[in-house]
Amino acid sequence: MIKIEDLHKNFGSLEVLKGISKEITKGEVVAVIGPSGSGKSTFLRCINMLEEITKGKVTIEGMDISKTNINKVRQNVGMVFQHFNLFPHKTVLENLMLAPMKVKKIKKEEIIEKAKNLLKRVGLADKANSYPDSLSGGQKQRIAIARALAMEPDILLFDEPTSALDPEMVREVLDVMRDLAHSGMTMMVVTHEMGFAKSVANRVFFMDYGVILEDAAPKELFEAPAHERTKEFLDKVL
Ligand code: ADP
Ligand code: MG
Repeated sequence: MIKIEDLHKNFGSLEVLKGISKEITKGEVVAVIGPSGSGKSTFLRCINMLEEITKGKVTIEGMDISKTNINKVRQNVGMVFQHFNLFPHKTVLENLMLAPMKVKKIKKEEIIEKAKNLLKRVGLADKANSYPDSLSGGQKQRIAIARALAMEPDILLFDEPTSALDPEMVREVLDVMRDLAHSGMTMMVVTHEMGFAKSVANRVFFMDYGVILEDAAPKELFEAPAHERTKEFLDKVL
């Protein structure tokens, strides 16, 4: 589903991604962990073309993304951010409807029904007519996930989706993500929630200084890390 070949990303003279090659198959849930500044966000952003690739190739469902229309890539690859990025002057329902109407040209009547169902799915059916500012952080993030789903992506990328939340709201968001994972969605999740990585992910990538130093099943990576750097990192966060 996702094929990454020798991916490099530079910002000026700073080499942030130093040659990443990975394949991710349909339905896999990959947790990406690693120290701050190691390139986790940049890695995800290259996969949905929020950053231009310096060198290498990313293929999604057989399409070389640098040769594909950017909107088409983003329809297929949804992204959920740490800070939600909801449209503040739109209601919750409108937030969900906007991109499908604009980008996919889906009729309003059709998308309303779908948007309502998605709100139900994330447990927020009663918030359809609320504005984002009236919601808690956990609710906003669940709306952001529903909004991403409204485009019917095949892949969802999450960049620290719970890092900006008060501790009591982390769980409601992780529960939605866990349901999604169980529904077969292909997901890549940058996270500091090691419990989530252990219990939901099929694979964990440990990123360090712009490379994926370790790629293993959660049990293996957490219980018997192969690299000293992974061990050091886990000692700090666990
Ligand atoms: P992480 O998400 O693992 O904390 P990032 O991908 O955000 O790491 O950043 C990796 C490195 O790239 C950092 O040194 C950061 O300062 C740098 N960086 C990220 N985005 C930019 C940018 N737009 N311009 C210049 N440097 C950047
Ligand atoms: Mg980051």
